[in-house]
Amino acid sequence: MILELAYLDVKVGHENAFETAFAEAKGIIASMPGFVSLELQRCIEVTNRYVLLVRWRTLEDHTVGFRTSPDYQRWKALLHHFYDPFPTVEHYEKRVAISADQFETHMTHSRGSSQDAAEAGTPTLDHRGDTVIVGGCLCRGVRYEYHGEIDEISICHCSQCRKAQGSAFVAVAPIAAEKFKLLRGEHLLKEYRAAPNKARVFCSNCGSPIYSARDDLPDTKRLRLGTVETPVRCSNRYHIYAASKASWHEITDGYPQYAETKTS
Ligand SMILES: [Zn+2]
Ligand SMILES: [Zn+2]
Repeated sequence: MILELAYLDVKVGHENAFETAFAEAKGIIASMPGFVSLELQRCIEVTNRYVLLVRWRTLEDHTVGFRTSPDYQRWKALLHHFYDPFPTVEHYEKRVAISADQFETHMTHSRGSSQDAAEAGTPTLDHRGDTVIVGGCLCRGVRYEYHGEIDEISICHCSQCRKAQGSAFVAVAPIAAEKFKLLRGEHLLKEYRAAPNKARVFCSNCGSPIYSARDDLPDTKRLRLGTVETPVRCSNRYHIYAASKASWHEITDGYPQYAETKTS
C-alpha cells in the first residue's frame, strides 16, 4: 500500500466552494480500482491550506489507473481551478506506524506490543513474567488486560450460550476478577441476566460479549475467549452441555465432552 500526499493551497475566499466541490469529487476517486482510503484535512494555522492523504494499493493504481481514467477529467474540472500554486504530489511507503491501542500495550508491557506477540505466536509477558492477555470488543470501545494464565477453556453448547453468541457454542475461561483490568470502555458495558444470579456483560455499542460473572462467585469472571487478541496456549479444554449442541454442529476435536456440567 502506498500513500499519496499533497498540500493543497486553495485561493483565499474559495475554501467553502472547494470543500463543496471536494465532497462531490471524492466519489470519483473512491470508485477507482486500487483505492483504499482518503482523508482531507484543513490546516488550523494556514486556513486556506489542506492536506490530501489517499491510500492506494499500488503506485500505478494512482499514477496510471486514476490519472488515465476518463473520470480523471471530471476530477480535474471540479478541483484544479481552486489551487494556487498548483500542488506537488508525492508518494510514500510506510516505515513505522503505531496507534493508541498499541501504545497502551507498549506502556504496560516490557516485551513489545501484543501485535508483535500475536504475529510471533508467543504469549506476551509483563515485567513480573506473568502472561498478559489483551483483548476487547469489536468496535474497540472496550479494551482490557488480564495478567495471568488461561488454564482452562470451557466450551459451552447450552442454548443460552448459543443465543448469547449467535453461534454454535461459547468458549470461556474462568479468570481471577482481581487480575482483570478494564483499560477503557467501562461506560459501554451493559449486563443481561438470562438467569437471576449470572450477569452476561457485553459492549452496548457493538454487542461483543466480554465476560460473565455469577453473584455467588465474585472473585471469578468467565472471559469470552473470542475477544482475546494475544496468543492463548491451553490444552485443558472440554465441552459442556454437549447434549444441547446445535443440530448442525459436530464436535470433532477429541476433547472431553460432558452432557451437561463438567461432573455430569
Ligand atoms: Zn464495542
Ligand atoms: Zn452455556
